[in-house]
Amino acid sequence: MLQYLIILLDETSTSFCHYEAPKKERKLISLDTLRQGIRFGMMENLMIQYVYPDYELPDEYKEVIESIDHSKIKPMAEDADVLVMNKIEAVQTDIPVVLRIGKQELFAHQKEVVAMLKGAPRLNVVLTDVETFTDEDFDAYKKVLAALSAEVEKLYVEGKSPQLNLLTDRMMLSQMNNCGAGDTSITLAPNGKFYVCPAFYYDDEADSIGDLEQGLDIKNKQLYKLSYAPICRHCDAWQCKRCIWLNRKTTLEVNTPSHEQCVVAHLERNASRELQHNIRKHGTFLPEHEEIKEIDYLDPFDVREDW
Ligand code: SF4
Repeated sequence: MLQYLIILLDETSTSFCHYEAPKKERKLISLDTLRQGIRFGMMENLMIQYVYPDYELPDEYKEVIESIDHSKIKPMAEDADVLVMNKIEAVQTDIPVVLRIGKQELFAHQKEVVAMLKGAPRLNVVLTDVETFTDEDFDAYKKVLAALSAEVEKLYVEGKSPQLNLLTDRMMLSQMNNCGAGDTSITLAPNGKFYVCPAFYYDDEADSIGDLEQGLDIKNKQLYKLSYAPICRHCDAWQCKRCIWLNRKTTLEVNTPSHEQCVVAHLERNASRELQHNIRKHGTFLPEHEEIKEIDYLDPFDVREDW
């Protein structure tokens, strides 16, 4: 069921996920389209998430934006509900941070990532090049996760509640919690058309799923649901984004993930298991959550005969 409407306020609105937002020329959504988008959100009872560009919007936009309950995803901290950063740098904030970086930056700067975690209530690390991971990268990622886990453990022992998506999300979940593009969320672009998510818009503007005039028209919409994802529905890497856009890019099927996406998510899942085990040596942490089970695979596709 649809729950969220993401509205890109400008052609240059920041990316907050795996995709790049390649447009450089500023072009705001028209005020009329914005108003119609808000009306659509109200009629469908959707929570609106505005995605901002890196410049101050005119006052008349601010007034329309504030006319409905919403959250703001912004590349600057002022007035944001989620702050998006595209490089590792010192941060001291009371709002959740999304950090978009490539694997090499993460591998080389884990200490700085820990410092960012200490400076924000939540740090969501989004790897922008998951599809390029090699076996060597998997090994490096496993080591980085172990090192980050040791730091998160120390923070727990100090009485803090760090939130690092790569490690702590899986410990808190009891079912799949994926992105939901095309299923629980859709995106309205500045051109007045709907898309599965912002990545689909930036890839190909013709790839829309309806518009404000005619309404939504999602072809084969069941394919965006977990129950129609033949591999994911057997998986317990519940923190995985299960990125529909990456799926289509790498396997040409929106409901079939690449090996790389699965292994990365399982390395995180297994590191979360270790972290859960380690923090419980110090006391009763998260007693309401079941122990994450040991498994002997990194890609559910490899054990498909057991399903
Ligand atoms: S790890 Fe792979 S199978 Fe599991 S949810 Fe993620 S994409 Fe789907």
